[in-house]
Amino acid sequence: MVESQLVSRGIKDEKVLEAFRKVPRHEFVPENMRYAAYDDGALPIGSGQTISQPYMVAVMTELLKLKGGEKVLEVGTGSGYQAAILAEICRKVITIERFQALSDGAKNILDRLGYDNIEFIVSDGTEGYAEETPYDAIIVTAGCPDIPQPLADQLAEGSHLVLPVGERYLQTLTVATKEKGKLKIEKSIGCVFVPLVGKYGWPG
Ligand code: SAM
Repeated sequence: MVESQLVSRGIKDEKVLEAFRKVPRHEFVPENMRYAAYDDGALPIGSGQTISQPYMVAVMTELLKLKGGEKVLEVGTGSGYQAAILAEICRKVITIERFQALSDGAKNILDRLGYDNIEFIVSDGTEGYAEETPYDAIIVTAGCPDIPQPLADQLAEGSHLVLPVGERYLQTLTVATKEKGKLKIEKSIGCVFVPLVGKYGWPG
């Protein structure tokens, strides 16, 4: 998966590639889908949600420009796979999910795999998580109609917020960098994520 789907498509950050080599993706997909765990695609994980395509997880992680040692906020825990990739690189990961069942499932897997630097929150992630602000990086793994203002407010100066922004079922990967208190916006590739549902996202 790492060589054929990530390196061959231009993922270069060695920290990101090393994290992908370590995290067993098959642990994060339902048992009856494990045959496809290392295929190039998203897979269903219950509650109508998905574990994202490995390449998309890699692109988004690379766009965060992590050095190691960061405190990162993830909105959209889902299976917990992206949180594991982040936890391999960063000091601390705070991950928010709106479905209790998904958050519990992800926590079970990540506890069993021995991760002790991930905090799980069940709430509306469009409001961020003010208790641990500011964040050295923020990633949203669901499609947003626009950049949620609380996430912009909770981002540290000089840090990156990576998120899909656009229509309900078709978005553009977007990088917002905080410079002198304002967001500098850059557009990356097109993508298709499940909707971010919440106060600063889509209606349920
Ligand atoms: N990062 C996940 C992984 O590695 O498996 C994949 C995330 S899935 C594509 C998007 C997730 O965002 C879903 O689990 C969905 O329930 C969650 N979500 C949607 N709106 C949310 C919100 N307002 N707050 C928190 N989570 C939300």
